[in-house]
Amino acid sequence: MISIGIDIGGTAIKGVLTDSDRGELARTQRPTLAAESRDATITQLHACIEELSAQSPMQVLAGIGLGVPGAIDHAQGLVLHPPNLPDWDAVPLVDILARRWSVTVRLENDANCAALGERHYGAGKAHDHFVALTLGTGVGGGIIVNGRIYHGQRGFAGEFGHITLDPDGPVCNCGNRGCIEAYLGMQYLMREAIAVLRKDTGSVLHIPATEDADHLTPKDLSEAAMRGDQSCKNILHRAGLRLGIVIASVANLLDITTFIIGGGIAGAGAPLFRGIEESARTRVLKVHRDSLTILPAELGNDAGMLGAASLLR
Ligand SMILES: [Zn+2]
Repeated sequence: MISIGIDIGGTAIKGVLTDSDRGELARTQRPTLAAESRDATITQLHACIEELSAQSPMQVLAGIGLGVPGAIDHAQGLVLHPPNLPDWDAVPLVDILARRWSVTVRLENDANCAALGERHYGAGKAHDHFVALTLGTGVGGGIIVNGRIYHGQRGFAGEFGHITLDPDGPVCNCGNRGCIEAYLGMQYLMREAIAVLRKDTGSVLHIPATEDADHLTPKDLSEAAMRGDQSCKNILHRAGLRLGIVIASVANLLDITTFIIGGGIAGAGAPLFRGIEESARTRVLKVHRDSLTILPAELGNDAGMLGAASLLR
């Protein structure tokens, strides 16, 4: 079965043509043009699909799967106010694409697509039940039960990022205080890191944090940590400890003990994962302790588009 998977991000639209037996056949990428207009983004979307469908070997396309950065009305095929696409309100994306391409179109939240991608092609291949976390600009979550996305009553399940860690903590994008996203979302993590690094004159990132803080990324933290920088190790370890607290609660709640961690910050590697292991394993109920499995995601930025393509299965 040939299908197209598209991951619509705030900066890039990434697309892949897949065969359910042979995997990836072709891929493409275009800028989202989110700041221009909704129509500009949709034109880019059509261009990606056109390019990929032209490479379909049998010219028979089973359908198009779309991962979008926001909430979805599954019944009506609407994308609802995605925060990174400011010109979008409630957009009937399924209708728009089905009219133009005359194929089945399926829509899914981007974090759920990433979870599905890992399920079919990555770290979740051997796991029927897991929670996939994407640590990027925000903290996304996708819950896989019996190999399929768990949507909840109205389709909004998996908002892992807005679980409260500290009711008096920093203000989160959602308006609440102390969500896990308000600690591990990219901008929050870097803000806290920069404050630490500015005080630590011995850190290799002291000067960049003081003079060029806007260009520092989680990758810089992890590279410095790998070179032995103690402050960077501590920052990432603390992030892991915090994430592990929430993971333990989710494992207790759902009786799901496999967690797949991806996204930019997950590239931080050992100190982050050590922190997660430490706090999750000590806090989770004894009955889950031995089965708790924390895995790094395997697909990187490709998880979303591959998961979107698998929506047609
Ligand atoms: Zn929040």
